[in-house]
Amino acid sequence: MDSHIESLNDWVYNLREGFKVLPWDILSPLEGNPQIIQSPADKDASPKGWVVSNTTIGNNVWAQSNPEGNAGFEHKYRPVAAITVDDTSQKTVVFDFPLDLSMQPSAYTDFSIAQLFYTVNKMHDLAFLYGFDEAAGNFQDVNYSGKGKGNDAVVAFAQDGSTMNNAQFMSPPDGQHGIMRMYLWNTTEPNRDGSLEQDIVAHEFTHGISSRLTGGPSNADCLNSGEAGGMSEGWSDAVASVLRIRPSHTRSLNLAVGGYTFGSNIRTYPYSTSMQVNPLTYGMLNSAQFNE
Ligand SMILES: [Zn+2]
Repeated sequence: MDSHIESLNDWVYNLREGFKVLPWDILSPLEGNPQIIQSPADKDASPKGWVVSNTTIGNNVWAQSNPEGNAGFEHKYRPVAAITVDDTSQKTVVFDFPLDLSMQPSAYTDFSIAQLFYTVNKMHDLAFLYGFDEAAGNFQDVNYSGKGKGNDAVVAFAQDGSTMNNAQFMSPPDGQHGIMRMYLWNTTEPNRDGSLEQDIVAHEFTHGISSRLTGGPSNADCLNSGEAGGMSEGWSDAVASVLRIRPSHTRSLNLAVGGYTFGSNIRTYPYSTSMQVNPLTYGMLNSAQFNE
């Protein structure tokens, strides 16, 4: 008999993963609807998958809601996924939660957490493939290569209640959790949820990449102020924007940032190759009022 005693390791190793979320090529709910994505983990970046059980906890990110807006995360709320078993006894953990955008975000907290878990994991895998790997000081609980420091998966708070109309990433040195806070936005009615907009999450995750790569993984203090801080913001917008480039796009494309949650471009001008569309130059830094 082998039907009911099963080690956790075997169970995890054989688990397939399904997410009903906004897929990678959809920026926000304005561009399309959630779709089922089957086992999206990259096998080089996340060789054991994204999920270690039946909730939004994995080697790269722990995602949970945080309406209280405080610091603890281990015991915060996370949705429970269904486990399906097919004819060959193959198990799949399925994160499929309702999304009703006519309601306030508190009506779709489960979806929000699952979406944030998906997008942060995608960012982890993409960054890994481009060199932000374990040796470079990335965010993982277990570093399978033995290089770099582990125990530092991203702690990602969906619907964080500590403030509104923004997002945040706190990046301590390698070996300590990066903390991502996605807030709600009251610039529209009903309110909108930053976890549902890919460029916001990508922008915040890129703060983790740039903080760990500038000065090395043990020195996360190089980009905290002044011009260095401005460069960090620019890099984060650049990565978030590059992810939106499609084969059909040309140099005439203009890109806004935060268009879903903020309701319009959150920057003063869209990113553009046209000086008529975006007249900003380095000389604008001479303006005391300039604050982007
Ligand atoms: Zn930023």
